[in-house]
Amino acid sequence: MRKIIHIDCDCFYAAIEMRDDPSLANRPLAVGGAAERRGVIATCNYEARAYGVRSAMSSYQALKLCPDLLIVKPRFEVYRGVSREIHGIFRQFTDLIEPLSLDEAYLDVTEAPHFAGSATRIAQEIRRRVAQELHITVSAGVAPNKFLAKIASDWRKPDGLFVITPDQVEDFVAALPVGKLHGVGKVTADKLARLGIRTCLDVRDWSKLALAREFGSFGERLWGLAWGIDERAVKVDSRRQSLSVEHTFEQDLPDLQSCLDKLPALLEEMNARLQRLDSSYRPDKPFVKVKFHDFTQTTLEQAGANRDLESYRQLLAGAHARGNKPVRLLGVGVRLLDLRGRQEQLELFA
Ligand SMILES: [Mg+2]
Repeated sequence: MRKIIHIDCDCFYAAIEMRDDPSLANRPLAVGGAAERRGVIATCNYEARAYGVRSAMSSYQALKLCPDLLIVKPRFEVYRGVSREIHGIFRQFTDLIEPLSLDEAYLDVTEAPHFAGSATRIAQEIRRRVAQELHITVSAGVAPNKFLAKIASDWRKPDGLFVITPDQVEDFVAALPVGKLHGVGKVTADKLARLGIRTCLDVRDWSKLALAREFGSFGERLWGLAWGIDERAVKVDSRRQSLSVEHTFEQDLPDLQSCLDKLPALLEEMNARLQRLDSSYRPDKPFVKVKFHDFTQTTLEQAGANRDLESYRQLLAGAHARGNKPVRLLGVGVRLLDLRGRQEQLELFA
């Protein structure tokens, strides 16, 4: 039996904007692209939601619903920084973290020793620490699996906590409208309605086989969800931040020139690895790492530099000068931009 927490920040981008500029609070606020540039709303606060403004709505449409709406430009660097800090708090309790976006993640705390293994207490503590240290609120759902934890985090939003204990699962799910189930979109919900299936209790009248006949492989999944079964594990994010090649030398390299002589071979290996990266990454800043014979080390990177031999020569000279001692390890690498996370950013200005 797993213990899963789903954390979802409350109107994340808007909450950060209100935190950083209190004059923006208590009025309808959205973060997004400008209406005259065919922009789209990324997030809005609850004051704006009261007018019917929603994320993914065009800014033009949002302003028609709420003429007083203030739309500010997104500051993704800031949001990413806050997201990293939140993840730092998560990691105090577990390394099993699956981010769904900058402001949403699943945590598997099945093995976490804190609070005598109480996932509820861990969720409370995460909510308390995020509020105290970062001055934004998050909602949390606690449940024995991912699909229920995600539904639970939405149950008491904003600034809420909702727990579904294992012995509550069956009753909780029975009353759940099928539209709330993971993977049930409009088309499937309509088809279910035509079959007279509105809640998970209705689904339970059907056998696995009968559902599979109607819905293919999703039918089997539907049957499981209706009984509160979801075996999906929390998938730890394995996205890379950088790619690098390092080499420890049998004999220390005595001076800068002997280090520079090693660069071409290291770069060749790094470039070969870069070619094998999939297209969801883009190489960004080059960097070098130097570990001196006394195990002190330094890393130097350069924004905007090329990834050619000359750029790495300059970086290496700069890094070497910081210690000017014999070198035992050299590394060359490149920071990576994760284009997956950028997609959302691009869509705002579609
Ligand atoms: Mg959110």
